[in-house]
Parts: sequence; structure tokens; C-alpha cells
Amino acid sequence: MERLDAVVVGGGLGGLTCAYCLAQEGMQVLVLERGSHPGSKNVTGGRLYLRPLRPYLPELWKAAPLERVVTKESITMLGKGSSLTMQFTSDRFRESPAHSYTILRSRFDKWLGERVQEKGGFVVPQRHVTDLMKEDGRIVGVVAEGEKIRADVVIAADGALTLMAEQAGLRIPLAPRHAAVAIKEIIRLAPEAIEERFGVAPGEGAAHLFFGAVTAGLFGGGFLYTNRDTLSLGLVLGIDAFLKSKPIIETHQIFEAFKGREEVAHLIKGGELIEYAAHLIPEGGNRALPKPYGDGILVVGDAAGLALNMGITVRGMEFAIASGYMAAQTVKKAKEKGDFSASTLALYQGLLKESFVQKDMETFRQSLEALENPRMTGFYPEWACNLWEQLFWIGEGPKERISSTLWKGLRQGLLNLQALKDLLMLRRI
Ligand SMILES: Cc1cc2nc3c(=O)[nH]c(=O)nc-3n(C[C@H](O)[C@H](O)[C@H](O)COP(=O)(O)OP(=O)(O)OC[C@H]3O[C@@H](n4cnc5c(N)ncnc54)[C@H](O)[C@@H]3O)c2cc1C
Repeated sequence: MERLDAVVVGGGLGGLTCAYCLAQEGMQVLVLERGSHPGSKNVTGGRLYLRPLRPYLPELWKAAPLERVVTKESITMLGKGSSLTMQFTSDRFRESPAHSYTILRSRFDKWLGERVQEKGGFVVPQRHVTDLMKEDGRIVGVVAEGEKIRADVVIAADGALTLMAEQAGLRIPLAPRHAAVAIKEIIRLAPEAIEERFGVAPGEGAAHLFFGAVTAGLFGGGFLYTNRDTLSLGLVLGIDAFLKSKPIIETHQIFEAFKGREEVAHLIKGGELIEYAAHLIPEGGNRALPKPYGDGILVVGDAAGLALNMGITVRGMEFAIASGYMAAQTVKKAKEKGDFSASTLALYQGLLKESFVQKDMETFRQSLEALENPRMTGFYPEWACNLWEQLFWIGEGPKERISSTLWKGLRQGLLNLQALKDLLMLRRI
């Protein structure tokens, strides 16, 4: 095979966006994807914030297969046998173009792969890349199932467990503390049932997060997003916290318990399970970021550690798309110069730093410390649920004043030194 301009390893959002931009420039680009089609192996919660991405490829997103516009946000603190929910909605969420959408990767990535091919790029599924090819210390291509493919630049877009970035010496394997494991089910439900149960209008959707007893008080939480005619239900669990839990808790048991909670069960009732997946999320933030470039290689998306747990949402998809776009801009410049060495490809890191991607990663660089505080997922949800139960409960005996119950509860939960320390820690998010 002749030498290509670029070979992209991984047909997820990062790889496909890069390939799309390169093909648009008339470059010869090949995407190698190990799954049966782009999207077949990709897992996400399903919430995409398009606003940060509109400056990049505005024309592309207009035709994208989006599921629902998120107009309702809910957060539920789960106690052992009780729960407290905050719900928020705003007309601003309905403005066009909307703030956030739900998507399904099997549909979205497949569509993006087709757009790459429309622009003249090649997307080859069921092709597992096993090695990088190196000559004189620089990367010159990849080996996919024994076949050698040469290119001026390799785009490592192979996700959280990236083999490419590791072989290039740009990244060490993910540490348990810097990763979360996620389990997700897609459950089919009639659109009318979704709209009635979640109280949303046709085309509109809800995002519902859960924390507390859902993860037995350990670091993590649950999510439930509405799609057109399915629900995305999942659980994210901090690997380190779970490895240290005694006795070690089985993830599938926790997930089944989560689905069995009344707060979830009535929303998914009668739904048909059509997909089950498990995946890793790199959550190390800025400190776990690899160097995203080398001689003949650029690393994008999850492979570059570009994912963020902000507590109220996990973000990785728009980082993957934006980094794919910026990698393509870098390759374009490198081609103009005829130089694909690390010194030219370093431009990519500069572009990332100036963009919302690195700025947000920097702003939230310490969020993990605050989120993995066990009192956030253990003590506080239980305390809040108990307090609300006491406020609403009218028992056999006399009832004390609401203000007295409230005051006692606040003293026990919030008005003490430990709570002050926790509050100060929350400033990191
Ligand atoms: C359960 C869960 C919930 C999440 N929720 C959200 C959310 O709501 N919002 C959000 O923005 N982000 C969310 N994220 C994060 C987001 O999904 C990721 O950041 C994003 O998918 C990264 O895209 P990517 O293209 O870098 O990697 P991926 O989508 O993982 O794509 C990598 C691709 O490379 C392929 N591949 C890997 N190795 C090879 C190889 N050797 N040869 C060929 N192909 C290979 C894979 O098959 C895959 O298609 C969530 C993640 C999970 C797991």
C-alpha cells in the first residue's frame, strides 16, 4: 500500500472528527476501527454539549442524529430507604441551538463515519491495529492484523486503554485512581411513555443523576438519560474506591440494586433491554495527561486522557471531537511544511491549551479530590434524607417545631468543623 497522509487508529468521535477534517482538505486518510462499524464498540452516558463545539464544525452538527434536547435536570440523593430530589428546568435550555442533547453512539458514530467517507476518507471496520511501526525512532505507520500501513502521521484515537500512545512511550497504563468503570444499559421504551414518565414534551428530554446509597456510599454515581425511544441507564464507579472496599462489592450487584430502587424502577418499568456495555473512563484530569504528540504521532480524545468528571456531568465527547479537529489542523500545517516531527506537531498541544478543552481540564483539575471524599457519597446523602424524613414525619407523639428539627439537623450535618472542611474542598469543583 502507498504511503497515506494519515492513518487514524479508532473510529470513535475523536478519530472520526480528525478524519473528517483531513478528508475535507483532500488528504488521504484511513480510519481503522476494530468494531463491526463505528459506534459498535463505543460507550458513553450519552450527553453531548454542542455549544462549545459549534465554532469548530457548525455545518456538520445541523444534520447530526441527535436524540432529545435536554430540558430537565434532576439530581437525586439516595439514602438507604429514602431519597431527596432536586429538579431544574429553564426556558434557556429550549433555545435554539440548544445547550445539550442526548445521543446514542451506535447511531451517531455510524453517521459520522459515513460523513468521513462522503468527503473521500476511508473507514475500514473490523481491523484491529496491533502495533506502531517505527523507523529511526519516529513513527511511520501501523500494523493491522499483519498488514503494514505507512503514513506521514498516526492519529492515536483508540480510547481510554490506548495501546498506540503506550507503544509511542507517551503514556503509562491508567492508574486505578485515575479511572472509573462504567456499566450501561440501553432500554427500549415508547416515546409517549418516556414523555409521560419524565414530564417532558415530544422531542425534549431529561437528564437524571443519582448519588449516595446507589454506590453503597463509595465514589461514583448513577445516570439516566432519555433518548427518542430508549433510555440510557448507567453507573460510574471509581475503581480505586471499589478495590479498597471491604468486602469488595460486585459491580453487577450494585447495578441490579440501583435498578431495583423505586426511584429508578418506575421510570424503566416495562422497558426492553436492548444493549449492555461496560467501559472505562479516564478521570485523572490534567495531572494524568500524557504528552499528546511525538515524532509522527498525535493522540486525541480518551487516549489523550481528555475526559472530566465535573460532579454534575461527565464530559469527554466534546473534548474528543474538539481534539480531533485540532489534531487535523496540526496535520494540515505539518503537511504544508513537509515536516511531521515532534517539533512541528507540538503545535497541537498549543491549540489544546488555548481551547476550552485544556482550559476546562485546568479549571477542574482538582475536582477528583473533592468528589472522591467518601462523605460526599456516604454521610451527606444519608444525612439529608434523614433530615427531610424527620421534617415530614408526623408520628404518634407530639411533633416538635419544624425550626427545631431543622436546626438540630443543620447542627449535626453542616454546622461543624468537618462540614466546613468538606465545603472548602468543594471549591475545587
Ligand atoms: C458510561 C460512560 C458515560 C459517559 N458519559 C458521558 C457523557 O454523558 N458525556 C460526555 O461527553 N462524555 C461521557 N463519557 C465519556 C465519553 O464517552 C468519552 O470521553 C468519549 O467516548 C471518547 O471518545 P474517543 O473517540 O476518544 O474514544 P472512544 O469512543 O472510546 O473510541 C475509541 C475507538 O477506538 C477503537 N479501537 C480501540 N483500540 C483499537 C485498535 N487497537 N485498533 C482499532 N480500533 C481500536 C474502539 O473500538 C473505539 O471505536 C462517558 C463514558 C462512559 C464510559
